[in-house]
Amino acid sequence: MPREDRVNRRASLRDKARSRAEDNKFTGGSAYIRLPEGVTMIKPRAGTVNWNVLPYEVSIPGVVPDGRNKEVVHVKGELEYVRTIFVHKYIGADEKSYLCLKTFKEKCPICEERVRLSKMPAPPTLAETKALEEEISGLTPKCLDLWNIEDDDDRKAGVQLFEFSNANFREPLEEELREGKEEWGGFADLEEGYTTRARFSEETFSGNKFFKVTRVDFEPRGAYPDSILDKVVDLDACLIKTPYDKLKAILWGADNEADKPAEDAGTTDRTVEREERTNLSARQEVAEDRNERADRGTRGSEERRVEPEVKPDPPPPRTERTRAVEQPDASGKCPVGYVYAVDCDNKPECHKCPSDVWEKCRDEADKLTTKK
Ligand SMILES: [Zn+2]
Repeated sequence: MPREDRVNRRASLRDKARSRAEDNKFTGGSAYIRLPEGVTMIKPRAGTVNWNVLPYEVSIPGVVPDGRNKEVVHVKGELEYVRTIFVHKYIGADEKSYLCLKTFKEKCPICEERVRLSKMPAPPTLAETKALEEEISGLTPKCLDLWNIEDDDDRKAGVQLFEFSNANFREPLEEELREGKEEWGGFADLEEGYTTRARFSEETFSGNKFFKVTRVDFEPRGAYPDSILDKVVDLDACLIKTPYDKLKAILWGADNEADKPAEDAGTTDRTVEREERTNLSARQEVAEDRNERADRGTRGSEERRVEPEVKPDPPPPRTERTRAVEQPDASGKCPVGYVYAVDCDNKPECHKCPSDVWEKCRDEADKLTTKK
């Protein structure tokens, strides 16, 4: 083999090993974030915090959202200090949270549904209008930012992940950056950074309490060694993406949506009208059900029985795609030869697994755990 090829092959092997080693750090986190072992999430508290925002090295290049309406180019190897994500909360029967696919600059079935609903003609009654508005609002993704933070008042905790509302932290912080000293812009710099002194106040909206930053100051901080970059979270790589079809099935409940034809092109107006009516009344019930539960402040198993029973027309023949979505394929195959579901997340390769394969395998693994 020519020398050049050998060198390339060696470099490729080295890259693979490094990339896997990097991935294998991810063992904790939430429904849509995988965190390295030992890294915890930091929460705001009322009063002033002294936080050091730390940068991370971009490993996944590309155009990503930056705040509510902007974009930024992430260049591999460069340092970035924040990652905007969009999150859909309380989706599907399990009311879980998922990353909106806008986070990856891709079309999102939940956002598409929100747009469809917002274009619907006004319903005849006030109650229906309210239910529709609530449903649209429930499908609107939250704009959040992820930050690597070291708390100056709790250094023992190490680097922590801070996930927080764009409007209630980043916007006030950036206002200070715009109006303050030019060098504050380098607040996340390893050598000449600034500690972010942020004052959080507890506020209330519609009966819900939340924190908002009311003042931000910057104080010069000591230098961080480059080795801190090995400890921070890669804010792009930590994101768990749910594939479009899977997200769509979750939104509708697999029994409803997976039975729908993949293409809507041949749907007649009457069908649309009927579906809209069915959706609307189901949505109204869901919204009412949700309100009821919120009022009682509990989520007992009994209340699950109130879930609306939607019986649309008999399902058309299923396509391969919908079947795959509906039934996570108990007899699936592990792409690297381990025992499907049983070995899920127990092998180093699991962290390298494509998210659509991993998700189904994880679902099956969860079922196994439930059966035990
Ligand atoms: Zn979305």
